[in-house]
Amino acid sequence: NTFMELNLSRPLLRACEVLGYAKPTPIQAACIPLALTGRDICGSAITGSGKTAAFALPALERLLFRPKRMKAIRVLILTPTRELAVQVHSMIQKLAQFTDIRCCLVLGGLSMKEQEAALRSLPDIVVATPGRLIDHLRNSMSVDLEDLAVLILDEADRLLELGFSAEIHELVRLCPKRRQTMLFSATMTEEVDELIKLSLTKPLRLSA
Ligand code: AMP
Repeated sequence: NTFMELNLSRPLLRACEVLGYAKPTPIQAACIPLALTGRDICGSAITGSGKTAAFALPALERLLFRPKRMKAIRVLILTPTRELAVQVHSMIQKLAQFTDIRCCLVLGGLSMKEQEAALRSLPDIVVATPGRLIDHLRNSMSVDLEDLAVLILDEADRLLELGFSAEIHELVRLCPKRRQTMLFSATMTEEVDELIKLSLTKPLRLSA
């Protein structure tokens, strides 16, 4: 199987080619076609499986067909650590290099003022650690989740292990009910299952 068969648009196929991706990894081959239907997805996948592109490519595809430039964030990706947020952001920049889609990073350790300016510049995608995003929501008017189309919870087991449960629930409550949610986790614990029940609707389950 090839990326061509996955119904992705030219700018995304070109990015995969430039990145040297010859064919989709198993999680990508399973996830991308299902995610493109708009259904909620819950995937057990570890780092190294290609899970980032598995959720990023369908999210980018969705943004390519946005009706017009929206004022609010369209895709929110929550990650447990700063390191992972940086990696996911960098991957998205590479996959979106032939599009006008803009992605912004929100995490602890960076200046609040600079991040506020970045958020005000109307990014399409925000990659964030939960604590810092909540700080922005409470302290400034720079985060608007009203038009959010896709919510992605990356490494859900670690998000919960690191004690972000309350933050995630608060963020999920602020997202529109009509949205697509994708959750990825290396392990499926009881806590992860609970989060799935609370934040996903009739999810399709994948593993790779
Ligand atoms: P991830 O599991 O998302 O952290 O990705 C692990 C590594 O695999 C990253 O360096 C990606 O650039 C790379 N990768 C992702 N998808 C593919 C693919 N289809 N073919 C080759 N490498 C890939």
